[in-house]
Amino acid sequence: MRLLIIGILVYLLYRAWKSWQHPSVPHSQNDSSENAGQIDDIMVKDPFCNVYFPRSKGIHMQIGDRDVYFCSAKCRDGFLETHSGQGNT
Ligand SMILES: [Zn+2]
Repeated sequence: MRLLIIGILVYLLYRAWKSWQHPSVPHSQNDSSENAGQIDDIMVKDPFCNVYFPRSKGIHMQIGDRDVYFCSAKCRDGFLETHSGQGNT
């Protein structure tokens, strides 16, 4: 049972060391309540469902020389499907 105790000790030391390395990282950021001062997220429009969403949350695709963002993989697939049958002129 000594190995187990050593394991726990190592684990506790590791945790202490980690919390010491990163003392106070603000962890409450996924609240949708007023994040003033953080507007580096650009809203883009999904060309398939016409919904606006933050660009970092979207799925990026390059179509030709155009950057397109989709709100979900489903929209991306749908968009590609509707545009695949038309050739590439
Ligand atoms: Zn969409």
